[in-house]
Amino acid sequence: MTTEISNASQTINTDVLVLGGGAAGCGAAIAAKERGARVLIVEKGKLESSGALGGGNDHFAAQLNTDPETDSEQAVVKFFKGIQNGVTSTHVAKGLASVMPHMVQMLEEVGVDFVRNPDGTYLRTSGFGQPGAWFLNIRNGQYVKRFVAKKIRGMGIDVLDHVMVTRLLTDGNRVAGAVGFNVLDGSFYVLKAKTVVMALGNANPRVTTNSTRNPFNTWLYPWGTGSHVVMSYEAGAKILNLDLNQQATLLPKGYGAPGMNGINSMGGHELNALGERFMGKYHPMWENGPRRNQVLGTYQEIVEGKAPPILLDMRHLSKEDLDLLENVLMPGDKATYTDYMTQRGISFATHPLEAELSEIAFGGKIKMDEDFESNLRGLFSGCNFFACSGAMCGGYAAGIEAAKEAGAMRDIPVTDSEAVEKERERIFQPLSVSGEGLNPRSFEDAIRQVMDYYMGYIRNEQGMLIALEKLALIESYADDIRAKDYRELMRANEAKHLLTHCKLTTRAVIERKESGRAIYRRSDYPNLNPEMNECVVLWQENGTSKIGFEVLE
Ligand SMILES: Cc1cc2nc3c(=O)[nH]c(=O)nc-3n(C[C@H](O)[C@H](O)[C@H](O)COP(=O)(O)OP(=O)(O)OC[C@H]3O[C@@H](n4cnc5c(N)ncnc54)[C@H](O)[C@@H]3O)c2cc1C
Repeated sequence: MTTEISNASQTINTDVLVLGGGAAGCGAAIAAKERGARVLIVEKGKLESSGALGGGNDHFAAQLNTDPETDSEQAVVKFFKGIQNGVTSTHVAKGLASVMPHMVQMLEEVGVDFVRNPDGTYLRTSGFGQPGAWFLNIRNGQYVKRFVAKKIRGMGIDVLDHVMVTRLLTDGNRVAGAVGFNVLDGSFYVLKAKTVVMALGNANPRVTTNSTRNPFNTWLYPWGTGSHVVMSYEAGAKILNLDLNQQATLLPKGYGAPGMNGINSMGGHELNALGERFMGKYHPMWENGPRRNQVLGTYQEIVEGKAPPILLDMRHLSKEDLDLLENVLMPGDKATYTDYMTQRGISFATHPLEAELSEIAFGGKIKMDEDFESNLRGLFSGCNFFACSGAMCGGYAAGIEAAKEAGAMRDIPVTDSEAVEKERERIFQPLSVSGEGLNPRSFEDAIRQVMDYYMGYIRNEQGMLIALEKLALIESYADDIRAKDYRELMRANEAKHLLTHCKLTTRAVIERKESGRAIYRRSDYPNLNPEMNECVVLWQENGTSKIGFEVLE
């Protein structure tokens, strides 16, 4: 089947262009609009359901200033600042801790129902090694994104659904906009703006697979394919923490679902095949320690032959906690959780849940100043912190700054029409590949095969150098990718971003010659090197790729 190539082309001007309509993009757009800017969100999916928040989230982290030691801005800053997260104290204070209470208020106003105790106070739980009970539990988690989207449309923020952006436009050392195409009808878009907030997501789970080998059956949102990092890097922004910002978790066996925050914070036990509860060996907070410890601890049990299976045992929980966990939180995170349990013929009250280690998602951050602006002027980073509140608050803080700068500018920067035409040709090229060509999925599968093998939970330099050679070989087939329709055209363009993301990430991990800060171990550098207290940074200068280290001030 062939689809006629549409020549339709549209140019849209705006003040603040928000790329990505996930939690971070929504936060950014709301903040910029509140400050009087003309705002356009561009989203590959549909605002109401796109992004990791689209299917539902069951917890929202927020400090609420009830205790100076554990529930305050200072406590949040202390916990999140540092190279592990690639953010400074100022970033955390300005972009997360101080915004959290405001976001809670906004979410309640749009209809989010936080679970409350009988006395009317919030039910708050602690998780992932955090010192305070920062997690608010959400009763109607599946609807959060719809509520926020309704607010956004009601505020008069412009939204372009179903448009995939592929490249940023620049005017010297200033961002000038972006180009993209409609994934349903092939229309081409030139988007011009005074400032741009990048909010395309900091998790790309399609780079490795779990036991199902299905790249769409993932814990995190499978439509993040590295555009956030790749587009920024290609436009000249510095990228950091590709080596450290990688994520993994435990999944119900064969089912790419979230839920570990609920299970751990409610007091679930993780057991190995010998029936031993073992997480105390890996962190004093047992299952409720940092996610990295749970993942690497589980991996160690497998290495030692004590697993699989891995079992999550909730049978000892109270009836009330079981009910909240199984019937409110889990389906709030992923609507089909109950179907999975039914098909397995189990319930938390009577059966342990078999789990597995998930795929590993790659990430990375745009290096930013204290106003969340990158070295490419006018380009702001919206995806600065993990999880839902991190995304929403970080996006909100970036939106404030992007609106401020746009407000001080008279004109939209000039866009380079030659660069636009070149990108248009590049985007649509897969539609004109003759003969059989290469299916985008086969191209992507080859990348995943290499990443699964050399960039899994254990890595070393020799393996990663081979991985780079294999990725270069795969890249040599990029022009053979054939798209039969616009849907496949999206996949083809995603696959190219995915490849670049993997190349950059592999190069960054080679530089992190230590173990202990990331979700993987280096077999050639098994110990933590306390002196490596700096971020690996990648960027381009005059078309040449550079790599270096930077200390976070
Ligand atoms: C099922 C699930 C449950 C979760 N539960 C919780 C929870 O309970 N609590 C919690 O704190 N966190 C939770 N998380 C994590 C949290 O939802 C995410 O960290 C957060 O929503 C990320 O938001 P984001 O905007 O940074 O990225 P994303 O959600 O990835 O948003 C990026 C957006 O950009 C779009 N996009 C990407 N590339 C392009 C492109 N090239 N062109 C156009 N658009 C593009 C995507 O479609 C997407 O909508 C959960 C995640 C999942 C998947």
